[in-house]
Amino acid sequence: MNSEEIMSLALKLAELRQVPEDSAIYTIGDNLRKILFGIDAGVPELLLAKQLGYDAVIAHHPQGGTAQINFHLVFKRQVQQMIEAGVPRKEAESAIRKKFDDLEVEDHTRNYGHAVDVAKILKMPYMNIHTPLDEVGRRIMVEQIKTHVEKDATVGDVVAALNELPEFKNAVTKIKIRLGKVENPAGKVAVSHGAGTNGGYEIAKTYFKYGIDTLAYIHVGVGDLARLKAEQLTGNLIVTGHMASDSVGINPFLRELENRGVSVTTIGVVSGRA
Ligand SMILES: [Zn+2]
Repeated sequence: MNSEEIMSLALKLAELRQVPEDSAIYTIGDNLRKILFGIDAGVPELLLAKQLGYDAVIAHHPQGGTAQINFHLVFKRQVQQMIEAGVPRKEAESAIRKKFDDLEVEDHTRNYGHAVDVAKILKMPYMNIHTPLDEVGRRIMVEQIKTHVEKDATVGDVVAALNELPEFKNAVTKIKIRLGKVENPAGKVAVSHGAGTNGGYEIAKTYFKYGIDTLAYIHVGVGDLARLKAEQLTGNLIVTGHMASDSVGINPFLRELENRGVSVTTIGVVSGRA
């Protein structure tokens, strides 16, 4: 496979038509048979790949170029997810504004050429695939809840359903209920994932305001959580764990690569084997 075929495969699995702004091919390669895949894969992993004779390095998180500088643009995907959960468009758009602007300011500071230049010097094919794989993971989690959680379920039942996915079983981290209680009725559940990063305080609050009783994030900031707790909101917030949740979307993609004769070594990916 070449770099573009690998990217296309990820898009196909996520049912996306275009490469999202947080994903990119940095240096192209052809006939890639032996791949080093890291949730984070920068300069050390590029050197390791060179030393051990890999054909390419694929990172999950953005490592440079436009994928870092334009990362904030995928945060707009939060709006569509909120609309699907019943939030009015105007409210959804205003809920993302502050964090979207903050992300743009942060993205602007990045050393976007660093790892990319190292890959060029090493002549190592290098790319990152972020949102497509998170979208795959989001769909799996949504489907798992849909098929395993009854109408009168509790928050604990939602956690138990997610725990049946092998990545959550195998992870060192456990799924946490950061707001609310295990015995609370789960009510209407939404999974917020696959939009760059978590929605923080504002987006969680907006989901709760518009009828979501239980929201799942894959991670949340300390400050955002403190603000949510201080408001004593009635919603429940489940935090599923960053590496475990990223792995839920990564593993189906890696299986597809392996089905096409590509061998993959992973760094930081939680096993998806039952
Ligand atoms: Zn991640």
